[in-house]
Amino acid sequence: MLIGGERVDASSGEWFESFNPYTGKPWALIPRATPADVDRAVAAARAAFKSKAWRGLTATARGKLLLKIADLIAARADELGRIETTDNGKLILEMRAQTRYLPEWFRYFAGLADKLEGRVIPIDRPGYFNFTLEEPLGVIAAIVPWNSPLMLAGWKMAPALAAGNTFVWKPSEHSSVSALEMASIFAEAGLPPGVVNIVTGFGNEIGDALVGHKDVAKICFTGGDATGALVYQTAAKHIKPVTMELGGKSANIVFADASLDNAVKGVVSGIFAATGQTCVAGSRALIHRSIHDEFVERFLKLARTAKMGNPLEETTQVGPITTKPQYQKVLGYIDIAKQQGATCVLGGGPAKRPGLGDGWFVEPTVFTGVTPEMRIAQEEVFGPVLSIMPFDTDDDALAIANDSIYGLAAGVWTANIGRALKMAHELEAGTVWTNTYRVSSPLSPFGGYKRSGFGRESGLLAIREFVQEKSVWIETTGADTPNPFVIR
Ligand code: NAD
Repeated sequence: MLIGGERVDASSGEWFESFNPYTGKPWALIPRATPADVDRAVAAARAAFKSKAWRGLTATARGKLLLKIADLIAARADELGRIETTDNGKLILEMRAQTRYLPEWFRYFAGLADKLEGRVIPIDRPGYFNFTLEEPLGVIAAIVPWNSPLMLAGWKMAPALAAGNTFVWKPSEHSSVSALEMASIFAEAGLPPGVVNIVTGFGNEIGDALVGHKDVAKICFTGGDATGALVYQTAAKHIKPVTMELGGKSANIVFADASLDNAVKGVVSGIFAATGQTCVAGSRALIHRSIHDEFVERFLKLARTAKMGNPLEETTQVGPITTKPQYQKVLGYIDIAKQQGATCVLGGGPAKRPGLGDGWFVEPTVFTGVTPEMRIAQEEVFGPVLSIMPFDTDDDALAIANDSIYGLAAGVWTANIGRALKMAHELEAGTVWTNTYRVSSPLSPFGGYKRSGFGRESGLLAIREFVQEKSVWIETTGADTPNPFVIR
C-alpha cells in the first residue's frame, strides 16, 4: 500500500487474492488493510495537509504537479489498461481508452487550481471590509468500485488535489492492482509524501474506520446504492459531507423518426459494450410501437454477432462478469425475469462457447414483453441483460423512463430537435445523450438524480465539491470597540 510516501504491507501481515475473471483464478496478492492501517493513512494525509511542503505551495505550483501526474499516467497508460483488464475482465479496448483519457482529468483540474478565487462582498454594514477565501476541506476519502477503477478514482483525486486537499484512496477489493501500480507515480511527479495514500482491503473491514474517521473531512463514494446508504449513515453519524455516485437503470429511448441503424448500434453498445457492467448501462430500451418489431429483429441480428472471449484480445466484444457473486446475481435476475413472464429472445444463461476458459461468462441476454413493474425493469442488474418495452406517445416514453428510483443517464434517438429538447428537459437523469450513448469528458458534469446519487464529478463546478468558503470581516475605521453590554 502507500502510506506517507512509503510502500507498506498491511499491519496484519495478511494478503488476499485478486481474481482474473477470464480464467476464474487468482493472479495477484493484495495487502489486507486493518482499521489501524486506515488510521495510519489518514494520519499521514492529515500531516501532509498541515505541512508546509503542501500547504505552502502556490495554487499554480499545485497545478503543475497535477500536469506531471498526467504525463506519468499517459506514459504508462497502456500498461495500466492491461492491468485493469486482467483484474476486472472488462475489454482491453475500453480499459485502455479509459487509462489513455485519464490524464485529461488531471490536466483540466490542473488548469483550474489557480482559478479558485474568493470574492469581495459589497457589504451592507458601513465600516467593514468583508471578503471570502476558498479553502480546501482537508483529508478526502475516496471509495471506488471495480468497474472503472482508475478513472473513477481520478475523477475524485484530480479536483481534490487541485483544490489543495490530501487524499486517502480505497480501491475495490476486486480491482486493487492498478491503484497499487499507480503508487510510484505520485513521488515521481514530486508530490510531497502523504498527499496521496492508498489502502487496500474489504469495505466491511475498513470502510467504517475510514468513513467515520475524525480526521476525514469528506467522503467521495462511487458504488452500489445499498453500500452507499451504509456509507451515508456512517458519515451522518459523524456529520461529514459526502458525494454519492450510485447505480442506475438507464433508459435508451428510440423514436420512430430515428435512424434505426444508429439506434440499434447505440442500444447494443449501451448494454453489451461493458458486459453491462457500467453504472450508465442502457438496460431499458424503450421502443416506439410502430418500429418495435423491426428494431428487435435488427437488434438481435447485430447482438448475435458479438464475439465473446478473452478481454485482453482486441477482437473480443463481450467479456466475462467481474466476480463470481456478481455472475450469480446476473443469472438470478435472468431467472426472475422469466418467472415474472418476460420473454427471453436472446441468451438467457451462462455462456458455454468454446474458448471461454473457466471465466464467469453470461450470454448477452434480451427480454421482450417486459412491463414497467417487473423487477427486471426496475432493479440494477449490472450485467449484459436488456429489457425491451414498447411505448406509444412521447409522454408515455417519459412516464416509463422516469418510473425508476434511479436517475443516472438516458439516451434519446430521434431526428427531431424539438423532441430531443423536450426529452432533455423532462427526463429525470443527470446525463441525457441524444443520438449517442456513453460519452464523457472532464469538461462536462457527471452525476445522478434521485437514488443514483448527488454531487457532481467533472466539469467546472466539480472543484467546488472540494472547497469551503470562509467569510473574513475586518473593521476598517479604527474606532473604539463599543460597550459590549449595549446592543447595537
Ligand atoms: P459496491 O457498492 O459493492 O462497492 C463499492 C466500494 O465500496 C468498494 O470499494 C467496497 O470495498 C466499498 N465498501 C463496501 N462496503 C463498505 C462499507 N461498509 N463502508 C465503506 N465502503 C464499503 O459496488 P461495486 O459492486 O464495486 O460496483 C458496482 C456498483 O457501482 C454498481 O451499482 C454501479 O452502478 C455503481 N457505479 C456507479 C458509478 C457512478 O458514477 N454513478 C460508476 C461506476 C459504478
